[in-house]
Amino acid sequence: MIPRPPMVKIAISSCLLGEKVRYDGRDKYNPRIVENLAPLFSFIPVCPEMKMGLGAPREPMNLVRPRDGRVELVTVKSKRNLTTLMQAVCEQTMPELARACVSGYIFKKGSPSCGIEGVPLYNEEGEKVDEGSGLFVHALRSFFPNMPIVEESDLGSIEVLISFAEQVVAYEEWAAIYADGFTPTRWGSFHSRYKMKLLAHSRPHLTKMGKLVAQGGGVGFEDRLQEYGQVLFAGLQVPATRKKHTDVLYHFYGHIKSIASTEERTAILSSIEAYRQEQESLRSPWLALKEVLQKYQVSWALKQSYLSPGPAALWFSKEGRGIVDR
Ligand code: SF4
Repeated sequence: MIPRPPMVKIAISSCLLGEKVRYDGRDKYNPRIVENLAPLFSFIPVCPEMKMGLGAPREPMNLVRPRDGRVELVTVKSKRNLTTLMQAVCEQTMPELARACVSGYIFKKGSPSCGIEGVPLYNEEGEKVDEGSGLFVHALRSFFPNMPIVEESDLGSIEVLISFAEQVVAYEEWAAIYADGFTPTRWGSFHSRYKMKLLAHSRPHLTKMGKLVAQGGGVGFEDRLQEYGQVLFAGLQVPATRKKHTDVLYHFYGHIKSIASTEERTAILSSIEAYRQEQESLRSPWLALKEVLQKYQVSWALKQSYLSPGPAALWFSKEGRGIVDR
């Protein structure tokens, strides 16, 4: 077995952690991300531009698209082309991130290196002609096609924070099994554990995943695994809704209704209904169900990633206690 890291790791633009690495010598510390995610994940700070040896402060740079369609990294005033240097940093850094078992990445918005989208592209005359993604992000997407990535500005709500955390935890588990070697049996048990989670996000994705798993091993196994990974992480990006969560909660309820006491059943049903009617947060029925499932040792349910701690802990964070709209 490949040893698993003790805490799931997320790479993050160094400036968001308070490191003074920006072109102007300042940082872009984001206390909300750090406070909410630090209890769950360990951060790996990365500043591609510092890795290029440019220091801080440094001359700012832009993405430039000459007429041949390439995208280049060029300093604003001195017009120094840094594209080759950035490519070298990318080639060095991606394997380092893989060795560190990084399972997600939070990027600083708008940077010609770290921006995921909406980064201005200029022509050689300095006119804005389009928008794109930073060169480092582009390389990361090619190297880790399924890795959850997000811009810090998109983590504005606790719901999106939880969704990102769920994707990261799933990626870590998926990547660890992948590195260790998937077998049809391991695949089947992974799929079983993630059924309720996917149901809360996207039934069509779950159905597609189920069809791939049903084909088992043999010819085309690796291709099916690859496709499964793409569908899994696309499915987890579909927002979970109150209605879908309610369906999942009732599904769990179905597993205890013949074994729980009348009082337990009544309490759970009223909690689910209060959640459905927007009078309760998700954590109330989630907690009530989990307690009863544990009491009666419903093993299928207890193995569900939907009920694992981790991202769910965010519902109990200072910010998460206020959630009523999931
Ligand atoms: S946005 Fe990226 S390249 Fe710019 S300072 Fe932050 S980590 Fe460094």
